[in-house]
Amino acid sequence: MLTVIAQDPGVKMRGVVLTTRVAVPAERLTPGPSGHRVQVVDFDATTNTLYRARTDALEDDVFEGIDPDELIGNPQFHQQNVYALVSSTLARFEHALGRRVPWAFRTPGHQLKVVPHAFAEANAYYSREAQALLFGYFRGAHGQTVYSCLSSDIIIHETTHALVDALRPRYVTNSSIEQAAFHEGFADAVAILSTFAMPQVLAFGISRLGRKAGERARIGTETIPRNLLVPERLKRDALFLLAEQFGHELDPVRGAPALRASVQLDPSPKYLARAEYKQPHKRGEIFVAALLQAFVLVWSERLLPKSERIRELDPRHVIDEGADTAAYLLTMIIRALDYAPSIDLQFADFLSAVLTSDARLHPDDGRYRYREHLRASFEAFGIAPQSPTVDGLWRRPRKELRYDRTRHAGLRRDPDEVFRFIWENSAALGLDPEAYTWVQSVRPCVRIGDDGCVLEETVIEYLQELDARGDELKGYGVRKPTDMPPSFNVRLYGGGVLILDEFGRVVYHIDNGVRSRRQSARVAYAWQDYKREKEAPSREGRHDGAFAGLHEARARGPVPWRKR
Ligand SMILES: [Zn+2]
Repeated sequence: MLTVIAQDPGVKMRGVVLTTRVAVPAERLTPGPSGHRVQVVDFDATTNTLYRARTDALEDDVFEGIDPDELIGNPQFHQQNVYALVSSTLARFEHALGRRVPWAFRTPGHQLKVVPHAFAEANAYYSREAQALLFGYFRGAHGQTVYSCLSSDIIIHETTHALVDALRPRYVTNSSIEQAAFHEGFADAVAILSTFAMPQVLAFGISRLGRKAGERARIGTETIPRNLLVPERLKRDALFLLAEQFGHELDPVRGAPALRASVQLDPSPKYLARAEYKQPHKRGEIFVAALLQAFVLVWSERLLPKSERIRELDPRHVIDEGADTAAYLLTMIIRALDYAPSIDLQFADFLSAVLTSDARLHPDDGRYRYREHLRASFEAFGIAPQSPTVDGLWRRPRKELRYDRTRHAGLRRDPDEVFRFIWENSAALGLDPEAYTWVQSVRPCVRIGDDGCVLEETVIEYLQELDARGDELKGYGVRKPTDMPPSFNVRLYGGGVLILDEFGRVVYHIDNGVRSRRQSARVAYAWQDYKREKEAPSREGRHDGAFAGLHEARARGPVPWRKR
């Protein structure tokens, strides 16, 4: 367990910055701290300074019980803070997915570098090229130095970008506004739910339940009456308060925290069509808002089960149930990534993915009806499952597949064996025969359900590419943008995910082929993006520019966004 700042130095309870301790996997550490997957490198490119790292008692929590005000100015605490939060986020993903999660870079790719004082700039971002998370610092409104490496929501947000990039590298290609919005909304959702899973944060959140401005906060043991524990009150009082307290000083880095913006969106399907929500960050807020809605619905249901007449509750129970709800939802949405299409993700796809992956482990939706609440919350924001089945789950394969030409064991680990399987079943899987096809990953996993049941699965990701000229698009069922020259070369992308059960049989095939009905929209979006880029090339010429530029844009407010 290592001490970290619970949210950011702006969140104080009775004048003291909230800290908490997070569990990190035990491992051998070298000075940095540097572990086998996360390596803190404290080099400041602005001042050309290498900060000294701790050399002793690396595995001990030497900062436990120290006055938080002292921690804020201590670079060695900053090093521990980023190490602990990045490591615990990676561990959370690996636990949810039931396997190791490699980083998106391969050569030689085991360790993500984390730079807590990277530059004197109000920015923080993930860079695939630099294989790093970079956190800036800057002078705040009152002249003090503000460190982005002390904000758990910024650290977890950036770590999540790195993890989603590792699991679904194609989500950074220019495919649609919603895919870009997903990267942001998902990173925010993981950060917010991780923070809610810290009991200290929720204790702070409920400290003003039912209190008006200026009234004293609740004391720790004061029971909470039933009428304050309904979803609307939990959202309006507890989450609003937390959102307000998130340090404003860090707004130049992250813009208004997603929690602050999203918690204000009352459920409505109208946002999706509005012009301002055609911008990735704004659209990502809809995704977060739908999840927050599900969070308060489940939290309240756990507190006030219909079968019992409850009049008031012990606050510790309220906090524990909230933290458990956040942790469960977090596992649910992370696991869903495996069931999400490998390219061109829409919110509707993600909803079917989360419903399906949860149903695999918990067939009956359990006591608290997470799936029912999640679906209702997304639908209240106008997002219905992509799959047209009654329960919103992905459909099982409808055509017979042949298994007699592949070796069962190889399908669980060998990309060439998997490719052979795809080759033999190309027609049944509906793959385009002209497209170039390759297997990107084969990932065996062992998932553990809430009730301890074990599910063994293999997740296979394949990709397809097909090059065509503008005037050939029609032949592939794709609309050519009217101003695209006939000789223009277009690359059509497709791909899919195969989920295999423990016997090596395909249970789901979640695909989005090169001739998908969504291809016209993808080409139109990429074409617009290409034209914009030609007129005003962005100063970042590389992939990592996508994330760096994005976050700067976020701080400046709604500006047209560019991503490759
Ligand atoms: Zn981001």
